[in-house]
Amino acid sequence: MATGDDQTSQAARLAAVQETIARGAKKAGRDVDDVTLIAISKMHDAAAIRPLIAEGLRVFGENRVQEAQGKWPELREDTPDIELHLVGQLQSNKAEDAVALFDAIHSVDRPSLVKALAKAFDKTDRRPTLFVQVNIGDEEQKGGCASGDLPDLLERAETAGLEIAGLMCVPPLGVAPAPYFALLAKLAKRHELPALSMGMSGDYETAVMCGATHVRVGTALFGARG
Ligand SMILES: *Cc1c(COP(=O)(O)O)cnc(C)c1O
Repeated sequence: MATGDDQTSQAARLAAVQETIARGAKKAGRDVDDVTLIAISKMHDAAAIRPLIAEGLRVFGENRVQEAQGKWPELREDTPDIELHLVGQLQSNKAEDAVALFDAIHSVDRPSLVKALAKAFDKTDRRPTLFVQVNIGDEEQKGGCASGDLPDLLERAETAGLEIAGLMCVPPLGVAPAPYFALLAKLAKRHELPALSMGMSGDYETAVMCGATHVRVGTALFGARG
C-alpha cells in the first residue's frame, strides 16, 4: 500500500525527472512540450502507480501484454484519460490483445508482426500509434529490426496500410548512448518519421538532447523493480 511518504517521494522523483527533461530540452534549444514522458510501470502494482496518477501523470508504459491486462483496466476505470504504451516485444498471436489495450506500440520489428497488426486493425476501429523498433547497435539477441532491414519493413507497413509514427531504440549497454540516439534520429529523418522513442532512466537527458519525442523512464520514477 502507498503510504504518505511514498506519495511524497513519488512526487519528488517525478519533479526531478521533469526538471531533467526540461534541462535537456533547454540545452538543445527544444520546446519541452515536444517531449512526452512515459512512466514505465512494469513490475509495479496499482498501489505504486496511483500516486503518479494523482500527481497528474497520464502516460504509462508496460512491456508485457498480460501484465498490463491484469492491472490497467481497473486503473483506467478511475482515470479514463490514461494513455498506455507497449514498449516490450510483441508476439504476433498477442497483436489483437495489444491493439485492444494499448494506445501506442513501440516494438514493431518484423514482417510477421506487421501482418498480424494489420489483421488486428481490420477487426477493430482502434488505431494505436506505431513505432518501429530498430536494433540500433546491431546486437545479437536484441529486439528490433536490423537497421539495414528498416526500409523494407517500412515499405511493408505502408503496403499493409499501417501508419508508422516513428522509431524506437534501446542502445547497447555500457557504452555512450549519444551516437546511437543520433543514428536513430538520422534514420527517422531520412524516412520522414516525426516521432523518436529513446532514453531510459540512465540516459534520457542525453536522448532529449538528441531529439527524443518520447522518453521511457521506469526506475527514476518508481525506484528499483522488485
Ligand atoms: C524497462 C524499460 C524501460 C525503462 O527502464 P528504466 O531503466 O527502468 O528507466 C524503457 N524501455 C524499455 C523498452 C524497457 O523495457
